[in-house]
Amino acid sequence: MSIASEQFSQSTVAPVFLDSPLSHGVLAQTLLDLNQCEAIGNGDLDIATNHISQCVVESLEATSCHIWLYSRDRTTLKQVATWGNSSDQSPNELTVDHHPDYFQTLSQQQCLVLNSCPPGQQGVISKTKSSFHPSQLPPYLSTDAPHITALLEVPIYRQNQVTGILCCTQHHSPRVWQPPEKSFLISAACMVGLTLSQFKYQQQTQVLNRQKRQLSLANIEQQQAEKAWQESQRFIQGILDASSNILYVNDFASGTNYYVNGFMQHILGYSPQEIQKLGPKFLEQIANPKDIQAIHQARTTLAQASRDKTVETEYRLRHKQGSWHWMLCRETIFQWHEDGTPLQLLGTATDITVHKENTKALEQKNQVLTELAMVDGLTQIANRRAFDDFLDRAWADRTQSPLSLILCDIDFFKPYNDNYGHQQGDKCIQKVARAITDAVKRRPDLVARYGGEEFAIVLPNTTQEGAKNVAQNIQIAISNLRIEHHHSGISEYVSLSLGIATAAAREERSPNKLIAAADQGLYHAKSNGRNQFSVGYLADEDEESVSIQTPCQLTLGLEEEEPSP
Ligand code: GH3
Ligand code: MG
Ligand code: MG
Repeated sequence: MSIASEQFSQSTVAPVFLDSPLSHGVLAQTLLDLNQCEAIGNGDLDIATNHISQCVVESLEATSCHIWLYSRDRTTLKQVATWGNSSDQSPNELTVDHHPDYFQTLSQQQCLVLNSCPPGQQGVISKTKSSFHPSQLPPYLSTDAPHITALLEVPIYRQNQVTGILCCTQHHSPRVWQPPEKSFLISAACMVGLTLSQFKYQQQTQVLNRQKRQLSLANIEQQQAEKAWQESQRFIQGILDASSNILYVNDFASGTNYYVNGFMQHILGYSPQEIQKLGPKFLEQIANPKDIQAIHQARTTLAQASRDKTVETEYRLRHKQGSWHWMLCRETIFQWHEDGTPLQLLGTATDITVHKENTKALEQKNQVLTELAMVDGLTQIANRRAFDDFLDRAWADRTQSPLSLILCDIDFFKPYNDNYGHQQGDKCIQKVARAITDAVKRRPDLVARYGGEEFAIVLPNTTQEGAKNVAQNIQIAISNLRIEHHHSGISEYVSLSLGIATAAAREERSPNKLIAAADQGLYHAKSNGRNQFSVGYLADEDEESVSIQTPCQLTLGLEEEEPSP
């Protein structure tokens, strides 16, 4: 038996057919057919390796063919395809560590050719005479396999690395491998390598396609997430814009606007971008100068307030077109620096212009109503209610000086009404009221219509003497009116009777006592003949009524007599 080993590398993979009558046509055609095998091109490892091993057995008329491939971690060699007689019972898997010499031989890329020796004789391979050490021979070629009479083993390459072996065996009959047969097996091993490359390529393509699909899925998910985010942003923006308040976020220290909703444009005409363009002092630019101090005061309060505090301020902001809007602003701090100082403030501004205008109009109306409530409709002088209020206040203020009161009553007015008619009577009352008002010139004095044709004149800081002067002036004024009254029992013209009373500075009794005293004076003026004034005096506290010590009848232009003690 002769054993030969030959160096072999993938770079010299092209089969060389020697001039052998056995090989040429058949083997070449087989290789061409193999080349057309779809399974090889598709990298279909099972089908391709089966097909190749079948071709090898049939073409070389060998007993069996086995294809072995390294495991991924190259620790074992696994049989992936076998064809022909399986009586050799070779194992399906070889562990690299168990056969170091054999695998060393394999890694050296050698082609193993074991022929029966001598040629033509029946017999087994003489392992002892082999140029290889027995440990370098294939493990299955043991003494347990005497039936193997010849063996041809070629490496399978992929990417310049041995990835397996293609093994062809002859059983029972002697055989000497011919060079074309060896070349054929090398070519077949190349086909396995090619299949492996295709297989790996397909695997990588599948992985790539899977990754591509995952990537595009991830892309779609990202796009969907972005779309959802944009929609939620639009939704939130929609809510903010639909708010009937201006919402804003400003930098607390500089005043720079970070955010303002679309309602700003609706109320004040500025778009959010325009507000941001106005810069840090935008508020000072659009706020009414009179309100700037209030705005700054609110900010100071906010900076010193507790964290959840909201500060309200009302101030005017100018619309882009120039009109002023009253805004109610509620502000709170919602971002702080690490040192606890305010970073950003959040605020809402409500347009209260209409509310303000309504309030002002109401106040004005109330003022008018109040005034109306204090004014007598017929004479347009103060009414009884105003008189009561005024007297109370004058009484309270009367600490340093006396207070005088004059009550007047038109004489014989009932006959006037009866004879000249009620309307004429009204006119008379109006004229008398105006005349009294004109006669009472001091500012703090009050002329009021006390009753039907009765008038009251309150004279703060006025002594009895002063009050007498006023009474006399009133009588002169009425006399000067010269309103005809042919049914008066005392004169041809309308005349008045007046009662005077004066309270001293430290008088502690009630103003009613003053009224009662003046009324008493009036009563005496009437009973004393009318068209005159008379002084009434406040009675002592324990007395039920005031007293008139001496009724004084004074005709126009005459001095009143002092009451006797
Ligand atoms: P005397 O001199 O005693 O005062 O007699 P007199 O007729 O004036 O009597 P009295 O003061 O009691 O009369 C009041 C009259 O004044 C009664 C009423 O007819 C009239 N009078 C009261 N209020 C009004 C008013 O608003 N308009 C008119 N036209 N007459 C009034
Ligand atoms: Mg009267
Ligand atoms: Mg009268």
